[in-house]
Amino acid sequence: MASVSTTTPGADWEYAPAPESREIVTIQREYGLFVDGEFVPPASGESFTTLNPASEETLATVAEAGAADVDRAVASARKAFEATWGRLPGRERAKYLYRIARAIQERAREFAVLESLDNGKPIKESRDVDIPLAAAHFFYHAGWADKLGYAGFGPDPRPIGVAGQVIPWNFPLLMAAWKLAPALATGNTCVLKPAETTPLTALLLAEVIAEAGLPPGTVNIITGDGRTGAALVGHGGVDKVAFTGSTEVGKEIQAAVAGTGKRLTLELGGKAANVVFDDAPIDQAVEGIVNGIFFNQGHVCCAGSRLLVQESVADAVLDRLKRRLATLRLGDPLDKNTDIGAINSRPQLDKIEGLVAAGEAEGAQRWSPPCRLPARGYWFPPTVFSGVSQSHKIAREEIFGPVLSVLTFRTPEEAVAKANNTPYGLSAGVWTEKGSRILWMAQRLRAGVIWANTYNRFDPASPFGGYQESGFGREGGRAGLAAYLGA
Ligand code: NDP
Repeated sequence: MASVSTTTPGADWEYAPAPESREIVTIQREYGLFVDGEFVPPASGESFTTLNPASEETLATVAEAGAADVDRAVASARKAFEATWGRLPGRERAKYLYRIARAIQERAREFAVLESLDNGKPIKESRDVDIPLAAAHFFYHAGWADKLGYAGFGPDPRPIGVAGQVIPWNFPLLMAAWKLAPALATGNTCVLKPAETTPLTALLLAEVIAEAGLPPGTVNIITGDGRTGAALVGHGGVDKVAFTGSTEVGKEIQAAVAGTGKRLTLELGGKAANVVFDDAPIDQAVEGIVNGIFFNQGHVCCAGSRLLVQESVADAVLDRLKRRLATLRLGDPLDKNTDIGAINSRPQLDKIEGLVAAGEAEGAQRWSPPCRLPARGYWFPPTVFSGVSQSHKIAREEIFGPVLSVLTFRTPEEAVAKANNTPYGLSAGVWTEKGSRILWMAQRLRAGVIWANTYNRFDPASPFGGYQESGFGREGGRAGLAAYLGA
């Protein structure tokens, strides 16, 4: 598939294609469930297919775990918790985590290509962000495993037990690492359910885990759709539920576990404000705006989907932003020059198209750079809406696509009021040259993560999580360990 530049058609020159080879990855035709240390066929007898969203080509058939399969996986995790993993000293657990981290690094190219094939994200993102960060999460938590007694949780903090973990499709391997690494470091055992549209890197991770020699049952990876997720979080043998995904499903899960005594953390949606003041270095801010909303096609819970720009510089920022967007390249995710890949699924594309139509119907002005979309696969051009008001649907709802809503403000107080005018509270960005203003804003913005003069920066040592409808609990850092330690 050829990459398509968003620059004006007929421009003087073009990038030559620079495709990453997919030869490095061997995709099996069929995958079973990873239970008790091995791949097994599902008792349900059911399966589903996963496809490449950039071409609609079927990649593999994957087992659909039913209730009996969930039962088996949870029983295996329980056995490992009681008999093997749960009894290992921290320094022993650390060795396994280091081994997993190193194996991810050694097989980084394989993971990156597989992630881009199954998810649609550009290879430069899977190669430079997703996979290195996944390895970093295992390294970081390996370091904690033998030091938990010095981390402020008392002299002998205990694991909770069996963790049921459900993850979304936007960062498939990275989210698996965010869930598994802290749980394992603290001595818990896991049953993980990847998203239906992106199971393949989690299954490759299962292979790595088997090769690393973890006691069977320490990590079980069961594929399936939302029903499998619901069966897992509702299972009586699960002690702790960790979920990343939509607020809607998060609410269902919270209702399902209420009163059961299970521990719960929820990492949900967002509608983050990226606030640009008139004293900000505009070119840097434009890069931050682009990174904030067009990274990973905007399939990012903390995406800077609402740009709040000070009125005096709004025209200048918008002009430069448009010029910058005209240089983005949309197309083949495996091409190393691609900036914008495919939308992950047909339902997600439908959702984006529906919300964009609502933006136009409500009177906002839609703009995209000239952009030819590939004929096959799921694609959406980078899109900017100006003239957006706070009541517009596109300013309130999570679009989870490459769509930016631009609003303006005059005073810092107005910026804070508008930024906080959301039921979410996951992240925010502030662009200004004044350190005092950054602190002033950070004290007032109701968001779990606030970036200053940067955006979408992640580090395993830095806790991540939200307020309000963005969920509760933190992942990463010392705070993230607390979610996997008993009271
Ligand atoms: P979901 O919240 O439905 O999916 C997240 C995970 O939960 C998936 O593994 C999913 O399985 C599973 N799941 C679905 N229903 C249940 C249930 N009742 N109980 C337990 N687990 C369940 O997100 P979608 O993929 O459907 O995306 C819908 C919207 O959610 C997006 O358009 C986006 O706006 C938002 N979203 C937000 C994310 C975030 O990080 N904030 C991440 C993903 C989506 P399966 O994949 O098989 O459905």
